Amino acid sequence: MKAIDLIKAEKPSLSLEVFPPKTGAKFESIKEACDKVGALKPDFMSVTYGAGGGTSEFTIDIASSLQKKYNMPVLAHLSCISSDRAGVRAQLDKMKAAGIENILALRGDIPEDAAPRDTWDYHYASELVAEIKEYGGFCIGGACYPESHPESANQKEDIKALKAKVDAGCEFLTTQMFFDNAIFWNFLYKIREAGVDVPIVAGIMPITKAKQVERAVKLSGTQVPSRFKYMVDHFGSDDEAMRQAGIIYASEQIVDLLANGVPAIHIYTMNDATIAEGIMNNISKLLK
Ligand SMILES: Cc1cc2nc3c(=O)[nH]c(=O)nc-3n(C[C@H](O)[C@H](O)[C@H](O)COP(=O)(O)OP(=O)(O)OC[C@H]3O[C@@H](n4cnc5c(N)ncnc54)[C@H](O)[C@@H]3O)c2cc1C
Repeated sequence: MKAIDLIKAEKPSLSLEVFPPKTGAKFESIKEACDKVGALKPDFMSVTYGAGGGTSEFTIDIASSLQKKYNMPVLAHLSCISSDRAGVRAQLDKMKAAGIENILALRGDIPEDAAPRDTWDYHYASELVAEIKEYGGFCIGGACYPESHPESANQKEDIKALKAKVDAGCEFLTTQMFFDNAIFWNFLYKIREAGVDVPIVAGIMPITKAKQVERAVKLSGTQVPSRFKYMVDHFGSDDEAMRQAGIIYASEQIVDLLANGVPAIHIYTMNDATIAEGIMNNISKLLK
């Protein structure tokens, strides 16, 4: 089933994201963790893709195994910055053979040891989107950044690039994490003004450990509202309390998003089924 049909359905959709292992040594334990997330039966699962080897070979394995085991659509991530055209085509062949119908098309982060820019086959995700569209048969999603991508000179330029990605064939966009819904609403207004008219899936990251905050902020450059900061300051040193507070905070963000008509929620589970389950229990009557 195509993810876009679930995202556009009358009922809001819920997707859960898992990541494959970095090395083969951890494959079985991480696969087991991904299985536990899949057992929660979201509308679909998404499986990340490691740029520059490592986890990339495991993405298709885990995605197709989840798809078969739970009879549920999967969204396999695919990044292009460390690939050439033949490599991307080979991945598309493998995905097609595995029965995967949905791809989140990403550029990926530029590796520190990247070859000179003029030798790259892909510079932006929009080129990958166009390539997948030309290949045919896949529903294509992409990433978007309510607080702008860190490389962008300003939000106007970032939204211009986003529009090009959509024009290349991207059917929906999933957001980077954000901890203040006002940032999401402002972004939504601006992209609609700019003519980006595809459905936006709101990506929610439950923060359940104080030490996650620094990493999340570094990765995404997201702003931390004072309400969030006070929560971490107060509960951060008590593991159980922080976990519960983080689940409640993410659930409250989702309640507000759904109440205002967001069609799809995506939870960054960090491969922890119990956190995803906690949020799903809190919102179980809202996804109708
Ligand atoms: C929902 C989500 C899932 C993700 N999953 C993964 C994953 O599985 N694996 C992984 O490695 N990474 C993943 N990432 C991270 C992502 O790969 C990085 O953020 C990366 O740096 C940018 O990828 P992109 O696809 O957004 O790039 P792009 O859309 O290409 O944007 C990158 C930058 O280039 C600019 N740009 C784009 N097109 C143009 C143009 N034509 N002219 C000028 N500037 C342009 C944009 O404004 C932006 O600043 C994910 C991010 C999100 C939000």
